[in-house]
Amino acid sequence: MYIGCHLTIAGGYKKAAELALSVGANVFQFFSRNPRGSSSKELDIHDVSEMKKILKDNEFGPLLAHAPYILNLASYKENTYGLGKRILKEDYEKMNKISIPYFTFHPGNHVGKGSEYGVTRIADALNEIITGNETTILLLETMSGKGTEVGHTFEEIRGIMDRINHDELVGVCLDTCHVYSAGLDIVNDLDGVLEKFDDIIGMEKLKAIHLNDSMMEFDSRKDRHAKIGEGTIGLEAIKNIINHPSLKDLPFYLETPNELDGYKKEIETLKGIRE
Ligand code: FE
Ligand code: FE
Ligand code: ZN
Repeated sequence: MYIGCHLTIAGGYKKAAELALSVGANVFQFFSRNPRGSSSKELDIHDVSEMKKILKDNEFGPLLAHAPYILNLASYKENTYGLGKRILKEDYEKMNKISIPYFTFHPGNHVGKGSEYGVTRIADALNEIITGNETTILLLETMSGKGTEVGHTFEEIRGIMDRINHDELVGVCLDTCHVYSAGLDIVNDLDGVLEKFDDIIGMEKLKAIHLNDSMMEFDSRKDRHAKIGEGTIGLEAIKNIINHPSLKDLPFYLETPNELDGYKKEIETLKGIRE
């Protein structure tokens, strides 16, 4: 199985791959730049190729980059919208340059303008960013629906995708904590949720899973990740998720509140309950 966690690339790409190995991971996620700021470091191609060697030698699965949280591609404010597009485009180019297969981002917040406005605004931005010559697939992350978050229903995700010119370069990253908070019952009706996903979006669009437990109750519309087995989703449901025929071959990335040793334990636990 492909299982890993979020790791820092502050020490470089090679270092991140070594960290992954040290926790027993064979995939990992990293921020495409400082998650809250907007400064971007120059690429060290040598460092990247050192990382690639480690990934190849250890049969890693696809790496996943995550865009900074500050982006809001649904914003009606031109400066916020412009900055979001500029950052996502810059990082998308960078991820393509180093052949990272997947790049996920939070679709955006419509801040009162309504879901349809947000959906269209996000799609317009993506159409400016994606030229069609890329290989990295941009992933829309499923959101919990806190505030005016766009992307907490499969219909909104579909709505964005429907408006994309190069839709072959757009997929979905499903976050287990977020969908549960958004009112999709992956604990009691995983099959039903996945059928719904398939009907509305299409299972072939699902490329990555953010594997998180949740501190919040079902349908809370709140986004608080919990350690695996310590939240409202629970270990039994997590076990069903990682072994589900439609999901088991996808890469799983932990974003649980852990340091390295905590991730190591969770990865061990998950490998232990993998069928
Ligand atoms: Fe995220
Ligand atoms: Fe996530
Ligand atoms: Zn979250």
